[in-house]
Amino acid sequence: MRAQVKVVTYVEKVVCDGCLSKDGTQTEATENLRLGDRSWDLCTPHHDRFSGYLIEALGAGLPNGQGEADSVPAAPEAVPVEPEPSPVVVAEPAADAPAVAESEEPTPDADLADYVSRITDSRKARKGKPLDVNSQAARAQWSKHRERLAALPGKERADYVKWCATEGKDAQLTASHVEFRGFMWSNFPHMARAYVDAVRGTSGSGNGSPRSPWQTTPTTWPTRSGTTCRTRPVNQTT
Ligand SMILES: [Zn+2]
Repeated sequence: MRAQVKVVTYVEKVVCDGCLSKDGTQTEATENLRLGDRSWDLCTPHHDRFSGYLIEALGAGLPNGQGEADSVPAAPEAVPVEPEPSPVVVAEPAADAPAVAESEEPTPDADLADYVSRITDSRKARKGKPLDVNSQAARAQWSKHRERLAALPGKERADYVKWCATEGKDAQLTASHVEFRGFMWSNFPHMARAYVDAVRGTSGSGNGSPRSPWQTTPTTWPTRSGTTCRTRPVNQTT
């Protein structure tokens, strides 16, 4: 008697938590960031960015033994403001709106402090509750939004800067952009949707790339100590 065994292989793609929570993009995760017993799967840009924030916030005193600090840039790259031929306007443009871009960038600490004073907890269970500036959750939520602001495509950035000028808000502050998105979602949802799609268009990568054994990894890496996931057979297209 011959038994037929059907082997079904599930190919599980590890998706970047940063991209996923930013706008739902399913970017392949190539790194894992651990903090205590939490861990996040991240694409390389998100990993570098978040590691950079942690180092900025906590100092470079992280143990080097984990091979983590060597790949981390000292500071997140600044995204240039692309002047675009004025597309959408949210409110009536103030006759002589001050140029917003001249103010110097707030320090991460100042930005975070401002953030928790203006933005509330976005987690379902604690929705609307105040954020504690010293909590990991607050920092994580802020980091996500700060990263999103830094990566704004030109169109949204142009609209955002105009909105800030009209509303008298500092466009450099992460909280301002969160408020901008909130304003757009409640008043101009189609525009907000277009913003999200635009971000997706610029950050979507690796989706069409051929399968590699590297993608058949479990959702979370078993341990960080033994192996580094730095050597990977996948060519990043970012
Ligand atoms: Zn990502």
